[in-house]
Amino acid sequence: LGERLQATMDRIKSKGKVTESDVKVMMREVRLALLEADVNFKVVKQFINQVKERALGSDVMQSLTPGQQVIKIVKEELTDLMGGDNQKINLANKPPTVIMMVGLQGAGKTTTAGKLALHLRKKFNKKPLLVAGDIYRPAAIDQLETVGKQIDIPVFNMGDQVKPQEIVTKAMSHAKEQHLDTVIIDTAGRLHIDEHLMNELKEIKDIAEPDEIMLVVDSMTGQDAVNVAETFNELLDITGVTLTKLDGDTRGGAALSIRSVTEKPIKFIGMSEKMDGLEAFHPDRMAQRILGMGDVLSIIEKAQTNVDEEEQKKLEQKLKDQSFTLDDFLEQMDQVKTLGPLDELLKMMPGANKIKGLDKMSFSGKEIDHVQAIIRSMTLYEREHPEKLNASRKKRISKGSGRSLQEINRLLKQFNDMKKMMKQMTSGKGKKKNPFGNM
Ligand code: GDP
Ligand code: MG
Repeated sequence: LGERLQATMDRIKSKGKVTESDVKVMMREVRLALLEADVNFKVVKQFINQVKERALGSDVMQSLTPGQQVIKIVKEELTDLMGGDNQKINLANKPPTVIMMVGLQGAGKTTTAGKLALHLRKKFNKKPLLVAGDIYRPAAIDQLETVGKQIDIPVFNMGDQVKPQEIVTKAMSHAKEQHLDTVIIDTAGRLHIDEHLMNELKEIKDIAEPDEIMLVVDSMTGQDAVNVAETFNELLDITGVTLTKLDGDTRGGAALSIRSVTEKPIKFIGMSEKMDGLEAFHPDRMAQRILGMGDVLSIIEKAQTNVDEEEQKKLEQKLKDQSFTLDDFLEQMDQVKTLGPLDELLKMMPGANKIKGLDKMSFSGKEIDHVQAIIRSMTLYEREHPEKLNASRKKRISKGSGRSLQEINRLLKQFNDMKKMMKQMTSGKGKKKNPFGNM
C-alpha cells in the first residue's frame, strides 16, 4: 500500500464527517495503489465505482463514523473481488479424485503437485499418486520423483518416450489397482501458451475427467498472470487457481484481478519452495493486508488508545533490548484482554505470516486465564528465565496451576515464537518481507 494512500486513509479514518470530495480523494489514492500493484485497469475501474457508490450512500455519510465506514467498505469490496470466502479443493464423492495441474513453465506446477499431495494426505487422509505427465522438459520427471521421495508419495512414471495421454490412461488404472484414491497429474508447461500443448492438455482432460483443474500461476509475473489465467480458463475451463511465490517480493496484484477476470476462485497460495509451503487462500486476510493493516504503525496506534502510554514505552524498550519476560507477558495479557484477541492482533503484524503455528496461537477468553494461571505459578526467577524450566519445575507449575504439562510446553513455545517475531518487528526486517504490506 502506497504511503500516500496510508496517509489518506489515516486522515479519513479520524474524520468525524466525510464529504463527497474526501471520498473522491481517497478513491483516487486507492486507484493509484491498485494500478501500481499491477491490478488490471478494468478491474480497478469497476472496483472504484462500486466503492464510490456505496461510500456516498446516505447511511454512510450520516453515520457517526463515516471515515471508518468508508474503510470498511473498501475492505469488504476487496474481499468480494477476491471471491469472498475461501474455496476448498474439489474432491470426488467416489474415488479417485483427479487433480490436473496446468500452467506455464516455471509457474510451480510440479512443486505445487507435491504440496497438494502432502496437504491432502495430512488433512483428508488421502492416498495420492503423482503422475509424471511432463515428458518434454529434460529434468521434469526426475524433479517429480525427487518431490515424491521427499514426502513419501508414489510417483507414476513411464519415462519420456510415451505420450502423456497414454501415461495418464495407465496411471488411472494403476491408481485403481493400488487403491490410491487421489491422482495428481503433473503436466508440461511452455514459456508461452501454444496450440500443441493446449490440445494435449485438452486430451488429457478428456481422458482423466479431473475433478479439479488447478491452474498454477506465478504471482511475480504481474499483469501477465492475469492474461495467462484468462487463456487457460477459456481453453480448459479451469476450476481453481494456485498463486505461487507470494513469499517473494511481489506486489500481489494478480490476486485481485484473476478472480474477477476468470470468475474462478484462487484456492491456495504458495508461500515457499518447501513442501509445507502451501496455504489456503483467504480473501479477507488478503484484503486486510492490502489495506495496510499489516503495518506496525496501525497496531501501535490501536494499542496506544487502550494501553497506558508509560507502560507502552517500557514495553517498547523491553522489546528493543530483548528483555521481555514471561512476567511482562503476564501483564500484557491483562491489557490484551481489553484490546481483543491477541492472535488477531499478531496476524496483522508484518512478517507474521512467517511465524510457524501462528494460526494455532489463540489466546482468547478462557485460554488467557489458563496462560495467566500457569505464569502465576512460576517464581519470578522462572518468569525471567523460562529456558531454565526443567521437567521437575514444570511438574510443580503444572500442579500449582492445574494445567497440563502439554499446555505449559505450548505456552513456552508460543512465548518463544512471539519473542522471535517481536525481534523481527523491532529490527524492521519483517516489514520488507511482507508481500502485501507495500501494495
Ligand atoms: P513448473 O515448471 O510449473 O513445474 O514449476 P516448478 O514446480 O518446477 O517450480 C519452478 C520454481 O519455482 C522452482 O524453483 C520452485 O522451487 C519454485 N517455486 C514454486 N512454488 C514456489 C513458491 O510458492 N514460493 C517460492 N519461493 N518458490 C516456488
Ligand atoms: Mg514441472
